[in-house]
Amino acid sequence: MYLVRYSEIALKSEPVRRRWEDVLVSNIQKVLPGVKVSKERGRIWLDGPVDPEKLRKVFGIVSFSEVEHCKLEELNSYILDFCIRSGLENARTFALRLRRVGNHPFKSQEKTIELADLILARFKNLGVDLDEPEATVYVEIRDDDVYLYRNAVKGPGGIPLGVEGKLVALFSGGIDSPVAAWMMMKRGCKIIPVYADLESFSSVRTLDRARAVIEALRAYQPDLELLVVKDDFLKRAVEVLRKKDLENYTCILCKRRMYRLAESVAKEVSAKGIVTGESLGQVASQTLDNLFVLDDCASMPVYRPLIGFDKVEAEKIAREIGTYEPSILKAEGCKAVPYKPATKAKLEKVLAVEKALSRESEVAEVSTSGPEHNDGHADQGDDASKDI
Ligand code: ATP
Ligand code: MG
Repeated sequence: MYLVRYSEIALKSEPVRRRWEDVLVSNIQKVLPGVKVSKERGRIWLDGPVDPEKLRKVFGIVSFSEVEHCKLEELNSYILDFCIRSGLENARTFALRLRRVGNHPFKSQEKTIELADLILARFKNLGVDLDEPEATVYVEIRDDDVYLYRNAVKGPGGIPLGVEGKLVALFSGGIDSPVAAWMMMKRGCKIIPVYADLESFSSVRTLDRARAVIEALRAYQPDLELLVVKDDFLKRAVEVLRKKDLENYTCILCKRRMYRLAESVAKEVSAKGIVTGESLGQVASQTLDNLFVLDDCASMPVYRPLIGFDKVEAEKIAREIGTYEPSILKAEGCKAVPYKPATKAKLEKVLAVEKALSRESEVAEVSTSGPEHNDGHADQGDDASKDI
């Protein structure tokens, strides 16, 4: 049997708490289908074949413990068997921590001393150390029932996945965007990851890398599916930029295009914003000036949980959550990256290039859409033109 603890949920008003607890219970049930999950007064109990590795990845869980159960009247003899079974004789010092819920004819401290004395009488070489014990015996008394355990495994914390709604993640599969997506999952957002496949400029290997990272992240959100959006915008943009001698604007234009692609997916799936792995000043496209130009094209909130992170901080989380290894799989960089990408992009210039591009695609559309060609659909490859 396992005892699951959660914290932030307990701070909420009664209806919110009940809803969040129900989501947490259902999320646990999804990853542990053969286990009976029940909740009771701020605790969740699991009965059946629990896989602790799966439990460690359910957001909202602060910690959990494998527990043994006995009735209060059998506690004094049961606790000695429990201590033998859990190898207490291997420790030199121990502490007994007792919690009590319900009406009992004894005080917690009295019961603690009584039980500790029993243990000390049985394990002659053991001493008490309340500050830095080598072993701890936890006793949780709830009315007539007692739960005993020796340790608590840390969960990921945060709030249950799904309680905050959905976000579209711009997902490259590099180190940063998976960490950013994970951080928003941890705050209760379901993630729809979108990979922009910019034709000849990104490689198959990069897409494979993104897929491998999704596999790792699926442990946190079991229904995670990578959405690959194919797009020829960059090819057309590169030509116009070359003509205008503005090749250094390639990355900023490309990123604006990605934001728009993400936003159109977000509207389709009723997501409430976009999340990216940008961190201030990390690379050329992520300066304050460039982020200003990027934000201009988004009509919904863009969340950048890594904005104040150093690379090493993002790498540390990536290692902890299991995305680091697939993220560093070999993948070729984008072939369209200019020699010196603009670090202080000017919005007017960006808008002028986008206008030229949209005019160009209108011309292309007119020349290919005579009465017999017109299938009634707008050019799906260029919804960027709608915003200008
Ligand atoms: P990452 O480590 O996430 O790849 P990065 O530090 O390499 O980021 P950029 O390449 O400038 O920085 O990308 C910034 C953000 O843009 C990424 O974190 C991601 O959110 C998004 N992004 C970049 N390339 C793609 C892509 N091909 N598809 C979807 N989103 C992308
Ligand atoms: Mg990258």
